[in-house]
Amino acid sequence: MTALSVIIPIYNEEGNIPALYERLKKVVSAITPEHELLFVNDGSRDRSIQLIKEFTAKDSTVRYIDFSRNFGHQIAVTAGLDHAKGDAVVIIDADLQDPPELIAEMYKKMKQGYEVVYARRRNRKGEGWLKKTTAKYFYRILASITSIDIPLDTGDFRIMHRSIVDVLKQMPEQQKFLRGQISWAGFNQTFIEYDRDERHAGKTGYTYKKMIRFALDGITSFSTLPLKFASALGFIVSIAAFVTSLYVLFSKFVMHDAVPGWASLMLVVLFLGGVQLICIGIIGEYISRMSANVRNRPLYVVREMK
Ligand code: UDP
Ligand code: MG
Repeated sequence: MTALSVIIPIYNEEGNIPALYERLKKVVSAITPEHELLFVNDGSRDRSIQLIKEFTAKDSTVRYIDFSRNFGHQIAVTAGLDHAKGDAVVIIDADLQDPPELIAEMYKKMKQGYEVVYARRRNRKGEGWLKKTTAKYFYRILASITSIDIPLDTGDFRIMHRSIVDVLKQMPEQQKFLRGQISWAGFNQTFIEYDRDERHAGKTGYTYKKMIRFALDGITSFSTLPLKFASALGFIVSIAAFVTSLYVLFSKFVMHDAVPGWASLMLVVLFLGGVQLICIGIIGEYISRMSANVRNRPLYVVREMK
């Protein structure tokens, strides 16, 4: 029996693994002896996997999954969720930006009857202005265009109950945006606040390219608003086109000041512009429904049944 699993995605973290192990082990042992530390090596190019294997040899609670190449942070965590055995599962970064000591508080809060306790950043140290600002606005824009409650300023650092892990395992979507999927799953969720530390050693594995892809995954998985944009634009353009057409007709037949050919040309351009955008919008409506089907999420999640 495993009471508590800790999933740690690892991409080039050799400078952090020993300190992380020490701090995690101390916190987790105090909570329960029935724990496991599950490292997921996401194609690191440094000595991370050797270090992990040394810990596995010394400590039977340390397990690992070693990827054949770099698949990305969300996929690494997903692999961890697939293989974690605990009744409660923690996701934590390896770089000690998420203080392991908070797990004790999260665990306690979970025992008060919450299925998810996530850690919300009060502020974040040692990160560039650009990263902080883009992250801040990304979460706010996402929150405003989606119908589920995705918490602001929150990463994947959290504890969750087995029932949530089982829901996540039923979501076969290829583009993972776990923090959104967890909100989608429902149940009782709450948060604690913390100050995010600087990276202990090494440098970020999240390049801007990876961050942009992640942001787009989040938006496309949890909002169809961008797809519906064409319909909205189509209506606005059509109304504007109608008003302009009236002006064109007025100018030709009442004022008689139109250059020959201008009026007919204008009418065709305005009409086609509106029709095209509306048609793209209709296609968008179908695609948004198709993408929901392709995602193949469960239709509902049951808390209890008799
Ligand atoms: N990570 C990963 N695969 C990647 C990039 C990052 O498994 O392709 C891991 C990394 O080792 C760390 C966590 O994901 O444990 C968060 O990454 P990082 O600290 O580089 O991101 P940041 O905190 O800068 O957003
Ligand atoms: Mg980090």
